[in-house]
Amino acid sequence: MKITRVEALPLDLRMKEPFVIANVVMEAMQFVMVRIETDEGIVGWGEAIPAWEVTGETRQSVMACVRLFVDAGLVEYSLLGKEIGSLEAVRAVMDVLEPKEDLRLVYGNPSAIAAIEQAMLDALAKKLGLPLYRILGGENQGIEFTKTLSIHSVEETVERAAEGIAEGFRIMRLKVGRPGSGGLPGYQRDIGAVLEVRRLIEGLHKDVLLIADANQGFRTVDNAVAFCKAVEGKLDWLESPTVAGDLHAFSKIKAKTGVPLMADEAVHGYDSARTLLELGGIDYINVKLMKTGGALRAIDLIDLAAGYGVKCQIGSMIESSYGAAMGMVAALARPGVISTDLNAYDLIEGNYARGPEIRGKLLYLGDEPGCGASFDPRQLETLIPKI
Ligand SMILES: [Mg+2]
Repeated sequence: MKITRVEALPLDLRMKEPFVIANVVMEAMQFVMVRIETDEGIVGWGEAIPAWEVTGETRQSVMACVRLFVDAGLVEYSLLGKEIGSLEAVRAVMDVLEPKEDLRLVYGNPSAIAAIEQAMLDALAKKLGLPLYRILGGENQGIEFTKTLSIHSVEETVERAAEGIAEGFRIMRLKVGRPGSGGLPGYQRDIGAVLEVRRLIEGLHKDVLLIADANQGFRTVDNAVAFCKAVEGKLDWLESPTVAGDLHAFSKIKAKTGVPLMADEAVHGYDSARTLLELGGIDYINVKLMKTGGALRAIDLIDLAAGYGVKCQIGSMIESSYGAAMGMVAALARPGVISTDLNAYDLIEGNYARGPEIRGKLLYLGDEPGCGASFDPRQLETLIPKI
């Protein structure tokens, strides 16, 4: 099966309510759907959610990158005519688009590459008549999922956490790291939110993990250490405390506090994960397909981290149900992942796809042939930006 046509469609997704994290308030997301057509008439789709604050990509750059991979005149390589009729064939294409420890044709652009990979794997799974998770060796067991709360006042955070626990969530993730939020100076809101939600969990005698994600917002090692000392013993882990470029910060914080640390923005993909794992100081990595350039490299990264005794979470960039399905595929391929944050599609108004579904208290993928999610392409017409 060969690729005969590649298209990229620019689209908009609106959030149900503004999502507040340390460095940005998100009200809508500009994203791109990649459509791959093959000589067997099979069509595969892939979703790119570019996050300029993490990977430096925008909708325009994703469009340009996809175009580059089609135009053989611009790079030595074009997707057109490439064989993708087996997992080995798709892996061979990905070794060029997103190489591991090797020369690259294009630097960065991981969400564009992730969308191309999803479209190729979706087409492959449809050709083989199988759900993709099975092709990658996974079982369709349900997985735990996370309740992520954006930054609100301490009172509202506790209220929303109580609602989440009552709904059955067992992993509570608080966004922190916005100075002065909630009308309090510095990071006092964050410390209050963690202590109060921990008190709530203890009062309910529930087995709930409590996690804080600073999205780099504490900026410096000193700020992060001060926060950690105030919440010592109350947090299961702290994610991305300091600016992503300071790879030495994790080991410096670790030397002074006992709070386990997770790297997110500091890990851009397989190669950068290797650098950070060598430097040490991290307990966990938040693996996102929009950073790794897709599911195959995400799985490679999880295996690499395991060799250093570091466990991974599969996270997301607020993807729709369609994009979230690929995170599920990676999580199902490696059941040892410590948690997932793939239900962020819940925050989106007009989520256009059907994908992972909650049954009981766990998240499951569908069993139909393809990547694990589907949608009516006419739905996309409602998401075309009105400029
Ligand atoms: Mg994070």
